[in-house]
Amino acid sequence: MRLLLVEDDAMIGEAVLQVLRAEHYAVDWVRDGVMADAALRSEQYDLVLLDLGLPQRDGLDVLRALRQRRATVPVLVATARDGVAERIAGLDAGADDYVLKPYDIDELLARIRALLRRSAGRGEPVFAHKGVSLNPATREATVHGLPILLSAREWAVLEALIARPGAVLSRAQLEEKLFSWKDDVSSNAVEVYVHGLRKKLGNDFIQNVRGLGYVVPRE
Ligand code: CA
Repeated sequence: MRLLLVEDDAMIGEAVLQVLRAEHYAVDWVRDGVMADAALRSEQYDLVLLDLGLPQRDGLDVLRALRQRRATVPVLVATARDGVAERIAGLDAGADDYVLKPYDIDELLARIRALLRRSAGRGEPVFAHKGVSLNPATREATVHGLPILLSAREWAVLEALIARPGAVLSRAQLEEKLFSWKDDVSSNAVEVYVHGLRKKLGNDFIQNVRGLGYVVPRE
């Protein structure tokens, strides 16, 4: 999953970035409203964590512009504990949820998981399909009840595919979920992770669709 973190405070931004990366999200971090707007226009994110008080351009303004473009990416706005008016303005400008600053990290992560779940049209917190299950809250993966170890990027590939069985994702779409700006993308990276996953899940769980990409078949 690829996240955009919009935060102008260097210390808070660095701390949140570390936490999100430790949870295996691919994260891009921008520090002002103009950069946030540019990133949102050029990249595909699964979720945005948006501080509202930003230099250059106000967070609410960035959010309104995003929704005017009819972008549906889930947005979690961050506001001060006493900022009731700001929270209401954020929700009415198109935010999906809010989180209070200073952050309670566990709550922040739980809200991110909940928003990702809702935006994928899922109610249940655990992905389960044909004997394979992934629990984003605990980071546990099992095959027929037995725990398996997945690397962060194997997890990201599998999560993207198992979230929508039957939907074909291209290599480029999978790369977007795997890498932030800072990472080098080697040309066969996705193939390498799919190969690793097949060893752990069995050869048929993820299938190639020639010329199109990869799919976890529905049946
Ligand atoms: Ca701020």
